[in-house]
Amino acid sequence: MHSASQINILILDDDPFILKMLTKMLANQGYTSVRTCDNGRDALAVIDNADTRPDLILLDLNMPDMDGIEFVRYLVEHSYPGDLVLVSGEDERILKTAEKLVHAHQIPMLGYLHKPVTPDKLAGILSAWKPHATDDQTPISHRLYSAEELRAAIANRELVNYYQPKVSVRTGDVIGVETLVRWHHATDGLIFPDRFIRIAEENHLINELTTLVLTNALNQAKIWHQSGLMLRVAINVSMDNLASLDFQDLVVNLVTQAGLSPQTIVLEVTESQVMGADARVPLEILSRLRLKRFHLSIDDFGTGHSSMAQLRDIPFDELKIDQGFVHRAWTDVTLRAIYDASLSMAKQLDMETVAEGVEDLHDWELLRQTGCDLAQGNFVSKPLLAAEFSNWAATWKQRVRTESLLQPEK
Ligand code: C2E
Ligand code: CA
Ligand code: CA
Repeated sequence: MHSASQINILILDDDPFILKMLTKMLANQGYTSVRTCDNGRDALAVIDNADTRPDLILLDLNMPDMDGIEFVRYLVEHSYPGDLVLVSGEDERILKTAEKLVHAHQIPMLGYLHKPVTPDKLAGILSAWKPHATDDQTPISHRLYSAEELRAAIANRELVNYYQPKVSVRTGDVIGVETLVRWHHATDGLIFPDRFIRIAEENHLINELTTLVLTNALNQAKIWHQSGLMLRVAINVSMDNLASLDFQDLVVNLVTQAGLSPQTIVLEVTESQVMGADARVPLEILSRLRLKRFHLSIDDFGTGHSSMAQLRDIPFDELKIDQGFVHRAWTDVTLRAIYDASLSMAKQLDMETVAEGVEDLHDWELLRQTGCDLAQGNFVSKPLLAAEFSNWAATWKQRVRTESLLQPEK
């Protein structure tokens, strides 16, 4: 168990008075390993340094240059492994909205503090702090990897595909899987893609990475198809993959060599990535792949800024509603509005809908009530190794019956 003095805390606030006051309050409560920054840039440098990386950040929302919301986005990009407490003088609604954003980015949040912060409120929030539990899917190390290490990992085939099922909400049938890559690191254990995809993209390794993931996924698809399991296999395609026309030839060749039909392969493209660069080349590649009957899926729908423009320009077959708008949408009117709008847009455009992040029975019931086509999430199954798949499928079939997942609600 960590004692208070072992927990590294970073306070980020542009107001020097607040920095001083919070540092003092924390010291009075035994938290002596505290650093302060008055701007986001300095704070990111503290986070990037393994020796100073905090376990917990107290983050002010209102700051002149980089505000708290923008800072949260950078936290994701910098693979920040710790927790967050939002501190703000803003009203409850703004804090709540910010909290939702943080959740959508999957950064664990302890809670929020209204200014003026009192010692009692601070103590209340910190008493909830626990060091992260580790399970078999939780990475044990947080260090940053170099391009060289990643290059070697790809060459040595240390990247392993996991497959997360997508099931029909109406029939319970398993329709397909999404391929999610992990790094089985010799000493650090299981490393999640959030910690190496960006490194691959920035160091021209993403084509090699995607080729490995795709090759393994196609081999697996072939095995499933030969055993009579006609699963649709999805892979994630990075915007950087779509920067050169070679990618299209590569995909077509690999699929042809594997003797698979393009209809059974889904390419998931994240829209915020699509927006970035010159859109013409990706657009051409995606349109051509679509002509060859590959399935195109727009990933993380609702999180970018030009979702509508992407829908207008690219002939997607499938729309994946981001997990940030799915889990708990049954009880939260804002999430529900975004979920409903995404669903209805997809239906009008004749696209298949997939809800990501279905975590419990409430989420599942919402999908059923609203007619979403496919469900993906931990309620159905966590991402699996190929070897675990058939056992899971048998259990799922049973669950659909015993838990009455297709029956009208009581
Ligand atoms: P994504 O495409 O949005 O994938 C879904 C992520 O949500 C996966 O995280 C999955 O494990 C997680 N997830 C699934 N069910 C639930 C749930 O019920 N609740 C919650 N909270 N999360 C759930 P993962 O595997 O860590 O992947 C993260 C991202 O990395 C993916 O997001 C995808 O954008 C990217 N990625 C994964 N594999 C590849 C790849 O081969 N190539 C590229 N370019 N990107 C990849
Ligand atoms: Ca995806
Ligand atoms: Ca997604």
